[in-house]
Amino acid sequence: MAENKLHVDIVTVEGRRFKGDADFVVAPGADGELGILPRHIPLLTPLKPGVVKVRNENEEQFFFVSGGFLEVRPDEVTVLADAAERAEDIDESRAEEARRRASDLLQQKLSNVDQAAASVALARAEARLRLAELRRRRRT
Ligand code: ATP
Repeated sequence: MAENKLHVDIVTVEGRRFKGDADFVVAPGADGELGILPRHIPLLTPLKPGVVKVRNENEEQFFFVSGGFLEVRPDEVTVLADAAERAEDIDESRAEEARRRASDLLQQKLSNVDQAAASVALARAEARLRLAELRRRRRT
């Protein structure tokens, strides 16, 4: 059984967010979304803020990841994320607040470094809000 499965690990510096088997994983690669099936070729790529989807049998689980790295081996997917949350653990008002702060900052004249940081913070907040919204729609 196990040969047709991916062993998936989603970890952050704060701890493990998920460990389990999957038939299919989708991850937000820096160069575009990646769909991973068992026996995928080995791959190491940076991640951008977005959603990791883990599908096993008929069950789908969704995680926000803020960025980090994805390592794929034929039977293993490891996500090393800066921060990660299960869709149901996203605090929407916190993300709204973060989005507002980042948008306000981007209205100001900033150094390139601050501009880049505010853009990434905005991308994190928007990805969190999109996933929270997706979850709400799937539940209704
Ligand atoms: P904020 O400005 O609200 O801190 P951020 O995007 O800067 O947002 P991160 O650096 O991505 O925050 O994450 C810091 C920690 O806070 C991580 O543990 C992350 O999981 C958690 N976190 C941040 N925003 C949220 C949220 N909206 N819901 C749940 N957890 C969050």
